Amino acid sequence: MNLKKDVCVIGGGVMGLATAYYLLKAGKSVAILEKAEIGGGASSSCDDMILLQSKKPGIALTLAMESLEIYRGLSDELGSDLGFYSHGGMIIIEDEKQLKIMEDFVKKQVSYGLDVEIVDRNTLFKKQPHVARYMIASTYSKSDSQVNPLMLMRAFLHNGLNMGLDVLRNTIVQEIKQQGDHWNVSGQNGIHVECDNVVIAAGAWSGQVGELFDIEIPITPIKGQLAVTEQIAPIGETNCWTAAYIASKHDPSILGDRSSYDKEIGLGFSFTRAGEGNYLIGSTREHVGFEKATDFKAISKILEQARKYFPIMNQVNIIRTMAGFRPGTKDGSPIIGAVDGFPGLYIAAGHEGDGVALSPITGKSVAEMICGVGNHKRFEELNLRRFAVALAKG
Ligand SMILES: Cc1cc2nc3c(=O)[nH]c(=O)nc-3n(C[C@H](O)[C@H](O)[C@H](O)COP(=O)(O)OP(=O)(O)OC[C@H]3O[C@@H](n4cnc5c(N)ncnc54)[C@H](O)[C@@H]3O)c2cc1C
Repeated sequence: MNLKKDVCVIGGGVMGLATAYYLLKAGKSVAILEKAEIGGGASSSCDDMILLQSKKPGIALTLAMESLEIYRGLSDELGSDLGFYSHGGMIIIEDEKQLKIMEDFVKKQVSYGLDVEIVDRNTLFKKQPHVARYMIASTYSKSDSQVNPLMLMRAFLHNGLNMGLDVLRNTIVQEIKQQGDHWNVSGQNGIHVECDNVVIAAGAWSGQVGELFDIEIPITPIKGQLAVTEQIAPIGETNCWTAAYIASKHDPSILGDRSSYDKEIGLGFSFTRAGEGNYLIGSTREHVGFEKATDFKAISKILEQARKYFPIMNQVNIIRTMAGFRPGTKDGSPIIGAVDGFPGLYIAAGHEGDGVALSPITGKSVAEMICGVGNHKRFEELNLRRFAVALAKG
């Protein structure tokens, strides 16, 4: 099959679908080439958070806040329930060392316009009546929100199809060639797309796509495992995380008393209630290549932790587990924008644990870059070239 399109998007996860949607809305013709099923990558094996509080003050936080604003109107725009809620979020704090770091972190976030504060233990216990009594304080932001990634992808897809999107499933991209001012993208089953622009949105596999034309895209898989509970009534007002992980980025000694196994699997804690009442409990950050199986030991650790922080979880059943590959970069920031020396080639990948939250702002911005509208200077710091510059500096 031969297709002629303005843009070929490689990857049918939340990033590829969002980018395709905004391109179609701007009047471009688009095909998505997806190696397996739409949404079969990280975007269907993840939490559902649009979490602002975890973002570093700077472009990460600014983009997350802008994405949240888009989300507020997205259900109406796409004409579909997206399972979007703003129940707020709390990062629970275990000791004075964590508290000091979180106070500084929160101050910086406030200076970027995020409505977040530190609350005392009485307020914490009021909002989280089941949290362990040894917690000393918490952060609180009413802005932390969530969206069902499956409903989101379905809505982008349906709207895209209504605007003429071509979706080629089970089509692994095998060859990408630049010919004059256009591109030829070839995939399995004799699929050929001739186009003006290509967007690499292949998540954790984006590095492999780069290899097809000798570009190093330094994105690697960071495996995350999750446990899902049966449906239960809310056990607190907001979703929760613990401060240990965020604080440890500022002071690694915070994790000093952890077992080497916990460090090896990068054990963190997230605790969110999906719209249907199932709690998603996470998670790990493992550097194990593309090995996707969940394992009993890691899941047991995740549950042990949940029961320590929320003892009521001893009475709740787990109904499933899952694992996905966060597309991780060396500096933890996504790669967004044009690729130097390859006119018409763009990357929208490497969002690690933030891809669901950042998909609307990324898709919209990449679409605008391709259409040549808007000022996207601020994305310079997220361009692929930052890695080449870092290498050159030694
Ligand atoms: C445990 C866990 C919890 C998470 N929690 C959150 C959260 O609460 N909030 C949040 O914002 N983010 C979260 N994330 C991160 C989020 O899931 C990812 O950042 C996001 O899904 C990445 O989307 P993507 O479209 O870039 O990648 P993917 O969804 O992985 O999509 C990439 C697609 O490209 C396809 N592909 C790959 N190679 C090729 C090829 N050669 N040809 C054609 N197609 C190809 C793949 O099959 C795949 O479908 C979490 C991730 C994990 C693992």
